[in-house]
Amino acid sequence: METSVSKQNKLVPPALKNDCFSLPADAHWTPVAEALALLEKRLHVCVGVETVPLFAALGRVLAEDVAALRSNPPQPNSAVDGYGLRHSEIVDGPQTLPLVEGRSAAGAAFQGALPAGHAVRILTGAPVPEGVDTVILQEDVSTDGRAIAFHGPLKRGSNTRNAGEDVAQGDLTLMQGRHITPADLALAAATGVSALPVFRRLRVAVVSTGDELAEPGQEARSDQIFDANRPMLLAMVAQFGFEPIDMGRAPDDRNALKGFLDEAAHLSDMILTSGGASAGDEDHMSALLNETGTMTLWRLAIKPGRPLALGMWAGTPVFGLPGNPVAAKVCTLIFAKPAMDALGGAGWCEPVALKVPAAFAKSKKAGRREYLRARLRDGRAEVFQSEGSGRISGLSWAEGLVELPDEALEVQEGTEVLYYPFSAFGL
Ligand code: AMP
Ligand code: MG
Repeated sequence: METSVSKQNKLVPPALKNDCFSLPADAHWTPVAEALALLEKRLHVCVGVETVPLFAALGRVLAEDVAALRSNPPQPNSAVDGYGLRHSEIVDGPQTLPLVEGRSAAGAAFQGALPAGHAVRILTGAPVPEGVDTVILQEDVSTDGRAIAFHGPLKRGSNTRNAGEDVAQGDLTLMQGRHITPADLALAAATGVSALPVFRRLRVAVVSTGDELAEPGQEARSDQIFDANRPMLLAMVAQFGFEPIDMGRAPDDRNALKGFLDEAAHLSDMILTSGGASAGDEDHMSALLNETGTMTLWRLAIKPGRPLALGMWAGTPVFGLPGNPVAAKVCTLIFAKPAMDALGGAGWCEPVALKVPAAFAKSKKAGRREYLRARLRDGRAEVFQSEGSGRISGLSWAEGLVELPDEALEVQEGTEVLYYPFSAFGL
């Protein structure tokens, strides 16, 4: 077929380059660690502080250190159902003690002090009456309701909890920057704290780009695919504890995309786009960000994930993720999540990996860090059978990522590898 190129200058495919099977020179590709160090240095909190009741605080980022307003437990109490007594009155061997009238129950304390030579019925969580310093388990006594018989000796203080043995009033309980967990809510409540200072939720706008995208639930032409990234990315933002803003789908049209970015910048603190981030004809994200003069095409030494287009749009940071869903998810976990934490007040957070034996074999070349869709079974990391970055089924199959280092590596079954459960990223 004739082309615009003249006959003398007939169009021929480019010659294979010498380096066609190797990765570009290292200086050209930014190592993951270097990219992360840059983000850590340059991003800082961009949201204000508000106080919310405990019931609205789950997943939010704590804005100040929190101290206990009250000790836990507030006063000595019994750890078991049993009988309270004086340790000094216990002898070695069998003995009997009369029971005093009344009992100490949780929320209904025994009034007064234990008379000498007596024991008192006490239930779990009940305040320890004055004079009692030791509690014997009800299973270790026999009783007729008027006295108890048991065997000494007993350890002094056994089955009792001291006031403040868990947390003393004034102790720091929760540190600034943490994403609040259900257990944090229990700790705050137990120590008399009913509201928490948190950062305003970081608003993250999510835009999908591409003329090939159709909306789930709508009719798709045969040359269209459903937008898979947007539901995933919006859900991830929500699970990270931030506020997702659904901006919809932008066509491969520079002006239209510009409109999406303008609105997103207006509504959000950070913009996540997917698709169009490379340097191809229809890669309008990079082109637009380029026009602002703030764009950096991060050619990252990472697989999966081609370039990330990073830039500022009207004062709002933009993360232009690759369109492939696998690359979009991996790049969100590795780069965008730490960035959200930094902007949202959580500081610089690094996911914690497990070192586990591999249940797979793989030969890896030097040059870029690789993330494999993985899951733990019987204490070993399995990986998805295909590394294709369009394989969404593998994303759903996976429960975490195996990270293989930048260097070359021969993984055999049993080789120790790093495994990050998705929970390490807050999912
Ligand atoms: P791009 O980065 O725009 O070149 O897209 C790379 C690949 O990801 C192409 O096969 C796209 O069709 C696909 N892709 C882009 N956006 C999405 C999306 N939102 N959902 C599913 N696939 C997508
Ligand atoms: Mg595209």
